[in-house]
Amino acid sequence: MSHEQSGAREATPRPRNLVNLLPNYSRSPAAGKVRWVASSNESWMSPSPAAVAAMAASVQRSNRYPSLAGDRLVAALSDTLGLPGTQVAVGAGSLALLGQVLAAFAGPGDEVLYAWRSYEAYPILVTLAGARGVQVPLDAAHRHDPEAMLRAITERTAVVLLCNPNNPTGTVLGINEVESFLARVPGRVLVVLDEAYIEFSESSGDTLMLLPKYPNLVILRTFSKAHALAGARAGYLLGGEDIVRAIRKVAPPFGLSAVAEAGAVAALADTDYLLGTVAAVAGEREFLHRKLEARGIGVPCSGGNFLWIPEDGRLATVIERACAAHGVSVRAFDGAGVRVTIGPRLASLAILAALDEPAAARPPQTPQTVLTTHPIHSTGGAS
Ligand SMILES: *Cc1c(COP(=O)(O)O)cnc(C)c1O
Repeated sequence: MSHEQSGAREATPRPRNLVNLLPNYSRSPAAGKVRWVASSNESWMSPSPAAVAAMAASVQRSNRYPSLAGDRLVAALSDTLGLPGTQVAVGAGSLALLGQVLAAFAGPGDEVLYAWRSYEAYPILVTLAGARGVQVPLDAAHRHDPEAMLRAITERTAVVLLCNPNNPTGTVLGINEVESFLARVPGRVLVVLDEAYIEFSESSGDTLMLLPKYPNLVILRTFSKAHALAGARAGYLLGGEDIVRAIRKVAPPFGLSAVAEAGAVAALADTDYLLGTVAAVAGEREFLHRKLEARGIGVPCSGGNFLWIPEDGRLATVIERACAAHGVSVRAFDGAGVRVTIGPRLASLAILAALDEPAAARPPQTPQTVLTTHPIHSTGGAS
């Protein structure tokens, strides 16, 4: 007799309480229906042909498990970056690695500090770890506010997440700002520098040189953005040996697929492709930025493959709809602004045309909204 036939209303398995607290990761409702997808910070260009060939070759060997911990990619990164392999961990995207970091270093009773607005996956992963998220507002220029973040550190703070360049605002802390922040964070607090967009940022400097000096620092990077491998899922983490060991311990075995590993190793070696992609994005980013400024839209300088259009009298959702009507999906963050991924010229022109629509045009006399007075607040948490 099947369950449906039994008619018995028995108790059903229920997820842990924290599952109900998890916010959803949003996607643009228009993403599947438009000509240009500018809503998920993906590369509009295909991956390096060398990466595509390596992945195709790897598919032939899919009967075999990959190495336990992505040994080939670890070796390639170790060579390229000049760090011992014991300081490198790889995984199925940097988000998977961030999940491991939190699993290893934060739990019930702990606080995880990050700026807001920042990457929308943070509240999900922090809540999943059972820790309490503490959000510190960005400053009026949409930048991290290191002073406010330092003030928000308590004896319960286990981890600080620093997204640099910041998603979704694109703003960048220079290496000097990062270092003076690190110098004032207690050594027992783990600082995660999420550098998903670092390749697109001219001004950020070489943060790897901070690793020897700050044993509580880890750096997260990904192949999803500048290497155009978002669908393959590969990312890496750099840090001190003890931290890397802990992070590897909490990883499920075989986390990085052999196909993704092959693609990442090849992409890492294809420096020309990377430089070409980065130059194309930077050029188009500058074009769109200038055109937005010419329309009186104040856009923060971006170190990512995207631009942030703060809400300044128009509603984010109105802009999102106007862009969709012009064939582009963008990402609206209700009450905050719109994030637009850099794409080909035609996509930029479509976005500009959408912003010129009367419905999406900025009312001329609306005062600028300045988001400086929000109190620090907490989210999620199972404690
Ligand atoms: C896109 C992005 C990532 C990348 O995640 P993957 O899991 O590597 O695809 C990480 N952090 C931020 C801030 C991002 O925007």
